[in-house]
Amino acid sequence: MNVYAASNLLKTIKKRRLSIDADIVKLALDYAETAHKGQLRATGEPFINHSIATATTLADMGMDESTVLAGILHDIHEDTLCTLEDIEKNFGKDVARLVEGVSKLGRVKYRGVERYIESLRKMFIAMAEDIRVIMIKFADRIHNLQTLYALPPHKRKRIAMETLEIYAPIANRLGMEKIKSELEDLSFQYAYPEEYAWLQAQTVERYHEAERHLKIIKKQLEKELQHTNVKYLAVEGRGKNLFRLYKKVLQHNRDIGKVHDLIALRIIVETVPQCYTVLGIIHRRWTPIKGRIKDYIAQPKPNGYQSLHTSAFCDHGEIVEFQIRTKEMHEEAEHGIAAHWRYDESDIKRVSKKLAWVEELRKWKEDIKDNEKYLERLKIDVFQNRIFVFTPKGDVIDLPEGATSVDFAYHVHSDIGNKMTGARINGNIASLETSLKSGDVCEIIVDKKRRGPNLDWLSFVKTNTARGHIRNSRRSILSLPSILEFAKKGRFKNKR
Ligand code: MN
Repeated sequence: MNVYAASNLLKTIKKRRLSIDADIVKLALDYAETAHKGQLRATGEPFINHSIATATTLADMGMDESTVLAGILHDIHEDTLCTLEDIEKNFGKDVARLVEGVSKLGRVKYRGVERYIESLRKMFIAMAEDIRVIMIKFADRIHNLQTLYALPPHKRKRIAMETLEIYAPIANRLGMEKIKSELEDLSFQYAYPEEYAWLQAQTVERYHEAERHLKIIKKQLEKELQHTNVKYLAVEGRGKNLFRLYKKVLQHNRDIGKVHDLIALRIIVETVPQCYTVLGIIHRRWTPIKGRIKDYIAQPKPNGYQSLHTSAFCDHGEIVEFQIRTKEMHEEAEHGIAAHWRYDESDIKRVSKKLAWVEELRKWKEDIKDNEKYLERLKIDVFQNRIFVFTPKGDVIDLPEGATSVDFAYHVHSDIGNKMTGARINGNIASLETSLKSGDVCEIIVDKKRRGPNLDWLSFVKTNTARGHIRNSRRSILSLPSILEFAKKGRFKNKR
């Protein structure tokens, strides 16, 4: 057993002030170590390290004792000779049920329409029975992603895609920002290796510079706060998570120069009035940017998120985003539904209100036998305004509502978009502007000799990715005289 990791688990429990008996945790660790004896992970480490890592993530989420214990024991039922009865005898019914729930969920795969829907259903059923099972799956998945490098490349890609398509949206729906970001950032490099490398290369320097500025601004802000006697619990700077930045860059036609809030300063205080005081202090010190002040305390986001946001021009003209919130808001923003385990009874109503949709999804499963209809309903809730369209090979492409086969083609690969001449939807030839529906199987017909896309497509495509590629490729195949024409009109001049 990795002694350092084990003591880190105990430290996390202490730091998060969880009422979990350290002796029982040690017992569970010994029990799991014995059960997994001789088993190695693909990385070559003893299996128990995976159990410890899973439990530590759960403790950091602030989960209860049963869940943390089940995190230690979650692979025992599947991979060893120990029985559920044995677990129940040693650690109680609650823990045994959770372990059973995780094993039942098994290995969720995402390839192919039928299996994809089946996986989602399984997740929702498990969630409706006991939401803690999903938390264990999240924690389990995070360590699997952290050690993904040890698996062969084709497996890496599948697991990473499955995480982005199934796990991250659910974490998002449960308001679990921290878990969601981790799942996305860990998957990004394996799901889209070229894009990841491209973004890294683009951002490395800007991040360094931004971080240098951030340190200075942090010091200045702390000084101001001390000056005005505002008690703050923390001022922390952080970069945007890379996958979210990626999505944002795509919205801006791959122009990173247009993404201004690369980094943010987060200020955590005790009370709501202090939040507004801090906002005032920031606005007095730096010039706020019009239209960027958002009061999510008075008007929370639909998922319950609360904070004050503002962006300001700081001393050297750099733009910094500030997020101001109380400790409770912070806890809720980071851990979402998991945060509620900490304040049991009083908040249970809010928890169950949030969970009503899970129960609803579970019921649909009984009512709707038709897969297509099920996905249709699903998208309204969990995957708001998104549709999932399949390639003939069964890969899922996630698109906004109303997207067409041209959007689909560009999301698969820019070359496919540029060379496409037609599309088959569910086996039938369809016009290019036909809107796709969730569950559609879309096949793109290409002509390798085609020189590029048709500018008319710009009138019906829905994604910025498609729009950007169509514009760019038209530009590159314009004849010389028209390039000169463009230059005369100043179209190539840098806007800045
Ligand atoms: Mn596991």
